[in-house]
Amino acid sequence: MSDQFDVIVIGGGPGGYVAAIRAAQLGFKTLCVDNFVGKNGKPALGGTCLNVGCIPSKAVLDSSKHFWQMQHYNVHGISFENPRIDVPAMIARKDKIVKQLTGGIAQLFKANKVTVAHATGTLLADKHVQLTAPDGKTATVQGQHIILAPGSVPISIPNVSIDNTYILDNAGALDLTETPKRLGVIGAGVIGLELGSVWNRLGSDVMVFEAMDTFLAAADQAIAKQALREMKKQGLDIRLATFVKQAEVKDGRVHVTIEHNGEQTTEVFDRLLVAVGRKPNTQGLLAPDAGVDLTDRGHIQVDEQCRTSVPGVWAIGDAVRGPMLAHKASEEGIAVAERIAGQHPHLDLDTVPFVIYTEPEIAWVGQTEEQLKAAGVEYKAGSFPFAANGRALAMNEPQGMVKMLADANTDEILGVHIFGPGASELIAECVVAMEFKGCAEDLARIIHAHPTLSEAVHEAALNVDKRAIHRAN
Ligand code: FAD
Ligand code: NAD
Repeated sequence: MSDQFDVIVIGGGPGGYVAAIRAAQLGFKTLCVDNFVGKNGKPALGGTCLNVGCIPSKAVLDSSKHFWQMQHYNVHGISFENPRIDVPAMIARKDKIVKQLTGGIAQLFKANKVTVAHATGTLLADKHVQLTAPDGKTATVQGQHIILAPGSVPISIPNVSIDNTYILDNAGALDLTETPKRLGVIGAGVIGLELGSVWNRLGSDVMVFEAMDTFLAAADQAIAKQALREMKKQGLDIRLATFVKQAEVKDGRVHVTIEHNGEQTTEVFDRLLVAVGRKPNTQGLLAPDAGVDLTDRGHIQVDEQCRTSVPGVWAIGDAVRGPMLAHKASEEGIAVAERIAGQHPHLDLDTVPFVIYTEPEIAWVGQTEEQLKAAGVEYKAGSFPFAANGRALAMNEPQGMVKMLADANTDEILGVHIFGPGASELIAECVVAMEFKGCAEDLARIIHAHPTLSEAVHEAALNVDKRAIHRAN
């Protein structure tokens, strides 16, 4: 392997691998350094997202959804006798999808002539990178440009030590071999709700402890309230304003001490999932003389174009400010590669879509009603319930609504919030509308196919102007 590259990317997750492919497409001699080791002990590209995040979690979400639906098909006149779940088979299907996708990145690297090093990369002075192989051997390479994309790792909390046998992080919770009878979850955030609902649908008794007294504080609260009601109905026992003080494994069970309103009690679980957020993964990434500044929260400091404090060194993805989302990491990777090539890409972090893959899904883009109120923005709101949408009723999925917020004076769309079937797909139309500075009137005047879930977006846009057809205004 050569020791000189145009671009060296450290990290092979959705930020790093996408940046490397785009850099190579632009004609740069590119090296991608990644140290992830897959379940089979072999190097695996794709980072958290493909190995232990987005993709495997959606694979098991889908399996658990089928299992749950089979038990509720009698509404369609279909009945099954005693559907059973084979957890190892479900996990094996998930592993197969992961293998297919991570292997696919290796092929894409080959096709685009990206060189790969399975090693830990440490940035030294003057854009040199030390590569430390798993056997401890080291080599040094140099790049004209370096892109840091080391991603994130789970946050741990005091007195709760993850062993991935009884006390699990996301990786452990995606590899259980049987359904725990009782599952405790710390954190009613994205991972807690997604993975908590997987195991709930597969038959676990799930209790979720959330430190905040507000459910999904970052979401529009009208949507969050509907989602909380629905999730409780589905059987998730969500305890707000509840702090976990300690977790101890005794005789094969996890004893969890919790505090609520100053009172301490103990709950006992078969497994405990810790999902209290993630932090930038900068351990071992920067030599003392690398010169790259970190923020006081441990992120790599970057400007709005992902430039670090060292000229020619860039950083993207979960390790820098902004939401910890795969699509945000990838778009930053593309933008940085294009900036290195002298292009002028534009990335709007205000229109990054958020999706929580519960059932039904929660998705949003832009600002919440609470944020608009706090900022003193004059706005109009429109909404439409899926219970009045023909397609949702035909699907037997009438829960939730679309809520649209628009500027009171200009009608520009400021935010769209969806809780309901297909929310992850419906939000795309709203992102496009916002990117083009669209108004509620624009979506109201666009023809939406009938019968589709997207008619709920159309009707919410009409309701902003109080002229929805299929609901009272
Ligand atoms: P990562 O994917 O974390 O990749 C970083 C890579 O760099 C890793 O392979 C790591 O081993 C490697 N690395 C780190 N340091 C070094 C070093 N010094 N040398 C060499 N290699 C190094 N996001 C979504 O948008 N949608 C979802 O549905 C979604 N679901 C998720 C579900 C779960 C359970 C989890 C945990 C996360 C989920 N996320 C989701 C978040 C998403 O996974 C991250 O936002 C995304 O992976 C960030 O990409 P990244 O490239 O910045 O980092
Ligand atoms: P999160 O920030 O979404 O939620 C963590 C929750 O834990 C918060 O509600 C927080 O108040 C709570 N909490 C923190 N400390 C606590 C404590 N001691 N006791 C009880 N509750 C506590 O974090 P996450 O669920 O771990 O997810 C991490 C990141 O991964 C997120 O930022 C998200 O962007 C990303 N992710 C995205 C998706 C998706 O896009 N669908 C899915 C999974 C993960």
